[in-house]
Amino acid sequence: MRLIFLGPPGAGKGTQAQRVSQRLGIPHISTGDILRQAVADQTPLGQKAKSYMDRGDLVPDDLILGLVRERLQQDDAQSGWILDGFPRNLSQAQFLDTLLAEIHQTCDRAVNFTVPDDEIVQRLVARGRQDDKEETIRHRLMVYRQATAPLIEFYEQQSRLLCVDGSQEMDAVTEYLSQGLAA
Ligand code: ADP
Repeated sequence: MRLIFLGPPGAGKGTQAQRVSQRLGIPHISTGDILRQAVADQTPLGQKAKSYMDRGDLVPDDLILGLVRERLQQDDAQSGWILDGFPRNLSQAQFLDTLLAEIHQTCDRAVNFTVPDDEIVQRLVARGRQDDKEETIRHRLMVYRQATAPLIEFYEQQSRLLCVDGSQEMDAVTEYLSQGLAA
């Protein structure tokens, strides 16, 4: 199974991705996690990405695309994967389509998690990560709406979209998602 998880920051994509990843035995690939690790390790990628992440802006595509290309070609990704936080704009989505065609893979579903803005801000302020200050959160939401939300339409047109109400309890979301993926 190859899945893309879409949704605003704080929608619970990461938590659900973790659960589905364990259940199906496929890797959870979070570009946010990969970037945060690169920042922590002070690699060249991390050094370039840090200021964008601190502001809540998207990291430039040229820093992300090669990383995704390499990750999807690793051994553990041959049986399936969950992409969490990628693609995040139209050009990343087009890149992914081209890459998948090239490596003879197709994505099965794009799952869109929805949560109202006020709930998102509450959740993220409570989470308290480095980039979870209220002002940065609002900026990330704006970036989401502008750059990422158009992908909902993109995957709907490909008839791959599954919508999930992310404002429910975590277990209810997992249940709904599992049923949706099995259908
Ligand atoms: P959240 O789910 O809270 O938005 P992520 O962990 O997915 O957090 O991403 C954190 C930050 O990492 C983003 O604000 C952005 O700066 C950067 N980032 C992650 N994935 C991408 C991507 N695909 N393209 C560009 N920037 C990204």
